Amino acid sequence: MPDLISLVCPSCGGKLQVSPNATMLTCQHCGNEHLVKHEAGGITLEAYARCPQCGRNDKSEKVTAVISSQSQEMSGMEQKNEVVLDMQGRQRMITNSVPFTRKQISILGQRLAPPDEPQFGPGLQSRGFIPAGGGSLTVGILAIVVGAVLLIVSACFLLGGISLLVGSSGYQAQDTVTMSVIGLIGTIFLFLVGAAGIALGIFLIVRSGKNKRAQLAEYQRRVQEEIAERQRIQSTWERAMERWNQLYYCARDDCVFVPGENTSASTSKMKEYLYK
Ligand SMILES: [Zn+2]
Ligand SMILES: [Zn+2]
Repeated sequence: MPDLISLVCPSCGGKLQVSPNATMLTCQHCGNEHLVKHEAGGITLEAYARCPQCGRNDKSEKVTAVISSQSQEMSGMEQKNEVVLDMQGRQRMITNSVPFTRKQISILGQRLAPPDEPQFGPGLQSRGFIPAGGGSLTVGILAIVVGAVLLIVSACFLLGGISLLVGSSGYQAQDTVTMSVIGLIGTIFLFLVGAAGIALGIFLIVRSGKNKRAQLAEYQRRVQEEIAERQRIQSTWERAMERWNQLYYCARDDCVFVPGENTSASTSKMKEYLYK
């Protein structure tokens, strides 16, 4: 096993261990990447990221390293005024000392901050499927009930008429025959209306079922569409974050660049550069 050589990171001053045959080295303190140069006098590190605008690397630093060196945690005590009521019920102002912790980041650090993670509100799925217009189902059930009642009534009339005819055998009065015929026509009419009611009811129920299935299919389609759209936005952001994690900043030109791409953008256009 080759002996490790201790070096100091040219970007942050952190201690680094490098194996003698390494060619690239990423500082575990600041994330800057360096080329390992093997020279007669020993090993030296050279910052690897060259700015495409000035062609140099002496002023370029990894953006993640800039952020961590440009932000600091502040903590201490601060005075807070508070209005309280005293024993006599009068308002009095008192001053308390309260501890605070704040993360302070420089203007440059704020300008180089990573793109915000997309936020999604509650989706269609969380609202659930609410079918519209359940009216035809109710009307259909009603039509079947009315139709069934009419069928039962017509069956009663038929049985009553038959028993009347059977009971009056031997004495065939003209009136009875006439009434039987009228009764029979009325019974047939009731039967037909009842049957039509049931048919209409079945038709309405089937149609409402179809309508509901169509609405459900449409709802599921829109849910899938929304999920796909949100995944697209999320993965676009993840790609931008990947680029941001590779991003370097050149202080000479106030620009950012991804090493190896030979393109750069001013810090004000950083988001567009990351999302391109
Ligand atoms: Zn470093
Ligand atoms: Zn530059």
